[in-house]
Amino acid sequence: CGIIGYVGTEDARPILRDGLANLEYRGYDSAGVALGGGNVDVYKRRGEISALTEVLPERSDSTVGVGHTRWSTHGEPTDANAHPHTDESGDVAVVHNGIIENYDDLRAELEVRGHEFTSETDTEVVPHLVEEELASGLGLVEAVSAVVERLAGSYAFAVVAAGHDGIVATRRGNPLVLGHADHGAFLASDVPAFVEHTRRVSYPEDGDIVHLTEAGATIYADGEEVNREVVEVEWDAEAAEKGGYDHY
Ligand code: GLU
Repeated sequence: CGIIGYVGTEDARPILRDGLANLEYRGYDSAGVALGGGNVDVYKRRGEISALTEVLPERSDSTVGVGHTRWSTHGEPTDANAHPHTDESGDVAVVHNGIIENYDDLRAELEVRGHEFTSETDTEVVPHLVEEELASGLGLVEAVSAVVERLAGSYAFAVVAAGHDGIVATRRGNPLVLGHADHGAFLASDVPAFVEHTRRVSYPEDGDIVHLTEAGATIYADGEEVNREVVEVEWDAEAAEKGGYDHY
C-alpha cells in the first residue's frame, strides 16, 4: 500500500520508520524495511509499525534502504507475506505496491528453474527475476528494465541489492514520487512519507526506471536518460499527512 526509499548521508533506519508512520493513513496490515549498503538486511512484521520497530536494530550504519506498508491482495497478512521480499540469497530485496497479474505463470516458470518461494504473494516473483538478470551480468538498472518487460499488471516497486549502488525503482499505474533533500534522495508512494525532509519533488511517469543514489536521481525512459521537472510542494507537513484534507 505504501512504499518509501531513502539513500543519502544519514542513518536510513529512523528515516524509513518515520516515513512509514507518515504513510499509515493509507491503511495497512503489515510493515517492513530492508537496509542496504553492504549486505541487505530485512525486518518485517505483520501488524502495526510498532511491531516492526521492536525488531529493528537500535542503530544501523546503513544509509540506504526501502520500507513498505502492506495492504494484502495475494496471501494472508503474515510475517512471511510482509514486504520486503527477497531471492533465496537474500541479496535482492523488493517492496511493491499493486498487483503483478501474471505472477502465477512467472512463479511456475521460476520454480521449474529451481527457485524456492517463501511467500504466497504476487510480489515475490520480482526479486527472483531480478536475481536471475543480475546473475547474467547486468547492472541493477538494466536488470529491473529487463524484468519490467515480463510483468503484467499495475505496480510501483523499489529494489535494493547487495553490491549495487542505491535503489532502483519503477512504476506502471501506481503512484511514485521522488523527493530531493539536501542530505539525500527519497522515493515514496506519496509526499507525506518524506515531507519533513524536503518539499522538492518530481513525478516519474509510467514506465520510467529511476536510479536513486547519494548524488540524486537519474531517470530513464526507453533506455534514455530523461528529465522530470522538480517542483516545490506547498503543504505543511501536518496538512500533507492528511493529503490536503482537514481530517484523515
Ligand atoms: N500485491 C502485493 C501483496 O499482496 C502488494 C500489496 C500492496 O500494495 O500493499 O503483497
